[in-house]
Amino acid sequence: MRNKLADILLEKGIVDNSVLEAIRAVPRHLFLDSSFEDHAYQDKAFPIGADQTISQPYTVAFQSELLQVRPNHKILEIGTGSGYQTAVLLKLKARVYTIERQLELFKKTNLFFKKMGYRPKKVIFGDGYKGLPEEAPFDSIIVTAGAPFVPNPLLAQLKIGGRLVIPVGLDEQVMTLFVRKSAKEFEKKEFGSFRFVPLLEDKN
Ligand code: SAH
Repeated sequence: MRNKLADILLEKGIVDNSVLEAIRAVPRHLFLDSSFEDHAYQDKAFPIGADQTISQPYTVAFQSELLQVRPNHKILEIGTGSGYQTAVLLKLKARVYTIERQLELFKKTNLFFKKMGYRPKKVIFGDGYKGLPEEAPFDSIIVTAGAPFVPNPLLAQLKIGGRLVIPVGLDEQVMTLFVRKSAKEFEKKEFGSFRFVPLLEDKN
């Protein structure tokens, strides 16, 4: 079923072989509540509790491709959620730091990583708008929730040459890539539109 899913993603335009390999390798059904297990290899998003969703496989593959992950890359993920995107990045041999702001999901997914033997460098309960200054700079940063605007701290925490992949917009988001050209210059490219749950600002 995972091979079939990878074939569907290839048809939809995902060409990076390492990304397709990662999709073939990660058992997505284990990241879903058991009631959705049967549907795990359809190219669809599903609820994961706490009003959140596991991203559609095409979206995970598309963002992963834009990141141009290389082994040992230091990557910051905003929005751990189910941990599926994290697992794909780990399969790509990245060192992953991931932040989640919903306590319930943070706890659940952190336990799940331990149980499954997935080893992100750090799983953090906190606010992704701030990034993770103490671990910066990063080779790339991926935001997996819809951002109403581009948080400056995330741009500031990229290495020169580093990439920020972020869906920007309110109801619908435009997938946006920023490549840091120098301390002050960023190249911006926009891709198609997507739908994410919102990147929420801190309650405090
Ligand atoms: N990468 C996840 C996608 C989960 S949906 C997966 O593969 O399953 C987006 C996640 O972003 C949700 O879990 C949501 O709680 C989280 N989120 C929303 N606003 C956030 C913020 N400000 N900081 C960190 N995480 C946030």
